[in-house]
Amino acid sequence: MNNKKKERRGFIKKTVFTAGAAISGIGLESCARTDKEGIGSVNIISNKKYKWRCVTTWPPNFPVLGEAVVEMAEELAIISNGRLEIKVYGGGELVPSLEVFDAVTQGAAQMGHGAAYYWAGKMPSSVFFCTIPFGMNAQQINSWMLHGNGWKLWKELYEQVNLIPFPCGNTGVQMGGWFNKEINTIQDLQGLKMRIPGLGGQVISKAGTAAVTMAGGELYTNLERGVIDATEWIGPYHDYLMGFHQVADFYYYPGWHEPGSCLELMVNKKAFESLPRDLQMLVENTALKYNLWVLSEFEAKNNFYLQKILSESNAQLKKFPDEVLAKLKDYSKETIQEIIDADPFGKKVYADFSKFKEEINNWNKSSEQAILPYI
Ligand code: CA
Repeated sequence: MNNKKKERRGFIKKTVFTAGAAISGIGLESCARTDKEGIGSVNIISNKKYKWRCVTTWPPNFPVLGEAVVEMAEELAIISNGRLEIKVYGGGELVPSLEVFDAVTQGAAQMGHGAAYYWAGKMPSSVFFCTIPFGMNAQQINSWMLHGNGWKLWKELYEQVNLIPFPCGNTGVQMGGWFNKEINTIQDLQGLKMRIPGLGGQVISKAGTAAVTMAGGELYTNLERGVIDATEWIGPYHDYLMGFHQVADFYYYPGWHEPGSCLELMVNKKAFESLPRDLQMLVENTALKYNLWVLSEFEAKNNFYLQKILSESNAQLKKFPDEVLAKLKDYSKETIQEIIDADPFGKKVYADFSKFKEEINNWNKSSEQAILPYI
């Protein structure tokens, strides 16, 4: 055998050994021995296994949102070759839905899935990382997250509470909600009792609506019995499953209060930092895959369910009058001003959010808005 052949055989042997090691479950673990300049790390071979818990704000087996988290965990187990096993809990299975935040910051669970605006009571500026009334749509907020300062600011906020956030799903434009009264003017909202959480609730209350929150499971009965006059939920796919078309007369659009809600995967910071670099990247890449996956599922299924709603019930599809939307937009500006006046970090985030939105809207005049009427 000549020398060149020997070299080649040696190279193949080394390559096969490395590949075989990866296949048999031995991965590269970074010791995170980063030098002072922040470059370079030492990798050692490790097959350490991590068993994590992921708590979610969604009811168990919740279509799209809950299902996506389960699929994501299954996928992570496969692509990590069993090194990262995540058990997913629906809301109420390990902790109540709205205690997901506390469970992950305190480390009772390493991971959680929900929506940042649920934590507005703890961190008012969290709303900007999910959605705000008349804010950005899914494509715009994804651009702000990935190529603007959105994700960077979000990490800055969550770092203070020992969390690392990832964009992980988007509902797209939601529907305006189910009403048992026709809305022709802003005055028609006065005196209504509507289930509408978060900023949307604060905004609509300026029009004289009593905004209430209640568990999803109670909504159908409360709407049927007149305990509430209206409710928003998500969009046709979920709304159909909730059966609201059987007990409400009008289905209004657009969802001015949620133009593109970005969902979140939150990871306990210490837990994330304990992972080797390759598993950290798998978590990040998988979160971003599901960020697109969830939006695509909503977009693919909503029209099918909208047509089912309209063909299986007497519910009428209606658009909020321009006058009503314009007034709600004014109230939204007031509400956001109140938030940022009381929260310096929120002021900084909103300044960046607004600047990005103005610029992307300017581009969208020549792109999305220009082409949509023709496609
Ligand atoms: Ca909603």
